[in-house]
Amino acid sequence: MDTLRKGTPVRLSDRVLRVTQDNPGMFTGPGTNTYVIGGAGSPAFVLDPGEEDDAHFEAILRAVGGREVADVLISHTHRDHWPLAPRLAEHTGAEIRAFNEDPPFAAGPRLKDGDCLSSGGATLVALHTPGHASDHLCFLLEEERAVFTADLVMGWSTSIIAPPDGNLNQYMASLERLIELGQGGGIDVLHPGHGESIKPPLDRVREIHRHRRQRTDQALEAIAAGVATIPEMVERIYTEPAVLASSTQVG
Ligand SMILES: [Zn+2]
Repeated sequence: MDTLRKGTPVRLSDRVLRVTQDNPGMFTGPGTNTYVIGGAGSPAFVLDPGEEDDAHFEAILRAVGGREVADVLISHTHRDHWPLAPRLAEHTGAEIRAFNEDPPFAAGPRLKDGDCLSSGGATLVALHTPGHASDHLCFLLEEERAVFTADLVMGWSTSIIAPPDGNLNQYMASLERLIELGQGGGIDVLHPGHGESIKPPLDRVREIHRHRRQRTDQALEAIAAGVATIPEMVERIYTEPAVLASSTQVG
């Protein structure tokens, strides 16, 4: 069953184990999801080891289960995703791989859009999907038509798009890329950086896309109608208290 159990590896498929860190919060929801990806007996990839923490470190090693670690992958360099990576890399002898040109950790060769990593029956393709962060990557696990969406699509909320690194136009384009990839059954499931896996995947992605588009249109209409300040705009667009609450949560 697909439940988030902190500190205990949860098997999601033949090749995917999830370990949820016990770091719940406004930006992390129930906590950061670390994924251990790879077939039995083959070197495994560890995606997003999360924050520095002994218990989570041990839980990741339990999920790796004595296998080699092929690479430590980082979806983006926000601090809920990577600080445990250097320790894990040192302990396992693996390299850290990320898109960021100047990452805040010692990294192996930089990952670029379309780069393909494979180990014992698990093939991961890096997808540069900026918007939430300029260096944001999703990973497609080809054998399972699963996409690790990190913070592009989360299980519990819409993503935060905050300047200077966040960019709404890029975010929309990244969602559109995911929708395109999923059309015609190209994707079976999404494994987000926070929250439960999403299946079927495209309804949720389209809903987020529609919601963002609607908000943007409303803002443009408000400007056209002569609304000049942010508070006036918030009052006009976010008319229901519940929506207002979630708008402050999602940024
Ligand atoms: Zn995050």
